[in-house]
Amino acid sequence: MTTEKLEPLPIKRLQEALINRIAAGEIIHRPASALKELIENCLDAGSTSIRITAKEGGMKLLQIQDNGCGIRKSDLPILAERFTTSKLSTFSDLSRIATYGFRGEALASISHVARLSVVTKTKSDSCAWRAVYADGALAPLKPGQSPDPKPCAGNDGTVITIEDLFYNTPTRLASLRSTAEEYSRILDVVTKYAIHNPHVSFSCKKAGSTSPDVTTPSGSEVKQTIQLLYGHSIANELMHVTAQKSDDDLQPWEADVLCSNANYQAKKTIFLLFINHRLVECSRMKRALEAVYSAILPKGTFPFIYLSLIVDPSSVDVNVHPTKREVHFLNEEVITERVCDAIQNELGKQSHSRTFQYQKIASQHKVRTCLTDRTLDSMFPVVNQATQPSPPPDAKSHDSPATQSPSPLKIRDIKESECYLTSVLNLRHALIKGKHKQLTEILEKHTFVGIVDLQRSLSLIQHSTKLYLVNNGALSEELFYQLGLRQFGDLSRMKLQPPPSLRSLLQIAVNAEPSTKQSKLTKDQIVDKIFGLLMSRREMLAEYFSLHISSSGSVESLPLLLRDYTPNLDKLPHFLMRLGPQVDWTSETECFDTFFRELAYFYIPGPLPLIGYQANDVDEGQVKAEQWQIQHVLFPAMRRYLCAPQSLLDRDVIQIANLPDLYRVFERC
Ligand code: ADP
Ligand code: MG
Repeated sequence: MTTEKLEPLPIKRLQEALINRIAAGEIIHRPASALKELIENCLDAGSTSIRITAKEGGMKLLQIQDNGCGIRKSDLPILAERFTTSKLSTFSDLSRIATYGFRGEALASISHVARLSVVTKTKSDSCAWRAVYADGALAPLKPGQSPDPKPCAGNDGTVITIEDLFYNTPTRLASLRSTAEEYSRILDVVTKYAIHNPHVSFSCKKAGSTSPDVTTPSGSEVKQTIQLLYGHSIANELMHVTAQKSDDDLQPWEADVLCSNANYQAKKTIFLLFINHRLVECSRMKRALEAVYSAILPKGTFPFIYLSLIVDPSSVDVNVHPTKREVHFLNEEVITERVCDAIQNELGKQSHSRTFQYQKIASQHKVRTCLTDRTLDSMFPVVNQATQPSPPPDAKSHDSPATQSPSPLKIRDIKESECYLTSVLNLRHALIKGKHKQLTEILEKHTFVGIVDLQRSLSLIQHSTKLYLVNNGALSEELFYQLGLRQFGDLSRMKLQPPPSLRSLLQIAVNAEPSTKQSKLTKDQIVDKIFGLLMSRREMLAEYFSLHISSSGSVESLPLLLRDYTPNLDKLPHFLMRLGPQVDWTSETECFDTFFRELAYFYIPGPLPLIGYQANDVDEGQVKAEQWQIQHVLFPAMRRYLCAPQSLLDRDVIQIANLPDLYRVFERC
């Protein structure tokens, strides 16, 4: 042992640098997100020309040159400090625009995760200045030099250069895609901003290449730019639609739309949404718009929509999503509806020959909500088109699935949603940590043998030479829990039509509970309590779980965990009731965990265990449908998505035979 005294390490500084780096990663995810911030800065600086150069998908180099107002030399020292911005000065400014990310964070963030340098010149300066930044502050160009900005030659305007993005955050680096994919995201951002800013000339190219991949002239118009960048076939089929505040709206707003008509069909929706001139995402709005078109476009084809929305800046909340791309805004529902109606109207005017009904949602996600007449139809998408994936067992088609044939239904890809909430990441991580390798593999590679007992949720599966009896209820509960976590914040919606009243559903459930003497509350009080609790969390339920409850208390949509699978809606009242006492609303992690547990419990096939199948009123069709879903939807989904925990082994999966042993038995006979 040495007796040498160790100097204490400067822990505090280290932590701070690390924290800044992590915080930066929340804002800057990839080259395209850095570029988005930089383009916005150029536009804010009044540029009419923006030139972008990228090397290796922007990971090696991302350079953006503008001809805007430039940055004063005296501002350079604090340029990359957090919360330095020329765009707000008072608190009231802050509350007006801060929500939009005008918080002086972009350059600061970039300086923490990349090498950042700036060359800039204002009109009144006689030369340009070059400054290099590291971790939020000016840094010397070469070791030993002073960090002060150096004079250099340059044009009016600013050139920002980012090199080696994420060089010091290897995990973020590892999460990036191929350079080709990152570059295509860059082009996507440039294309969209170019369309929204037709008065500005844009160009974007790879370093070393002489011909740009995107280039637009200045002084053009939105429609021309769309034509230039997306092609003639779109531009000829565009309709111009506007919508604005009506007398009952409190906040002023207006929407300017260029969208395709019934003659245009894209493979997927192209949606350019600008709110107050910032490119954002709003998946709910997108879905609502898609629904308008789903009524007129052939299945599997989608529209092009450019939508510029101007709202009162104080009504936009971008903080709901750490990436700041997904937004919420006040009166979102009303505005969405008005815009949809306006588009619908215009589409109606244009199609003289046919009439169609305005459907707010894709018909395949409509479900019947009358609790007494749940039929096969309500469990399956209407099967009338060749593209429909899942014929129900009694469909009179010749290729109805034979029990033993391989599953005809392809389980669609279910992407893991991007999420940076530590709570969700921790829950996801816990799944991976708790994974039982062997069992997961058995489920991944199993062959489905058959349902043994529907009431007791038992099925037989085979893997290599072994036969297992499994509890398909328990397995699907785990599957649904995991699917919930996987799609957190980005779950599809299952629209309820007409939307049932939350209060009545709760009443049904509470009344069905055996009365307990212990409870000090009357049943009505219990209903009130749960109702109040869920209503007060409406926004969160909608945002995180796609459980939409209207302000008037109707349940408008439920989270859709797995396409082609509809839960038994008889259990809906019970599910909603349990959300009151069974979800831990006080802590974030617990809340997400328990909510998804409850949701999974609701999703398990079959009726409530206590109610069970009454001997006489077994609905033959319903039973068949359920069996079909278990075999053709649930087990295939488990193959792909279930990360089986150890706990399932204890009770729910039992090896009942080893085929070689069985053969031996037979040999003896
Ligand atoms: P914000 O845009 O939120 O103010 P940024 O970190 O993106 O924060 O930029 C900080 C400041 O740097 C801006 O407020 C602006 O004054 C200045 N700036 C950044 N980019 C440019 C540019 N291209 N031209 C002129 N000024 C710029
Ligand atoms: Mg900015």
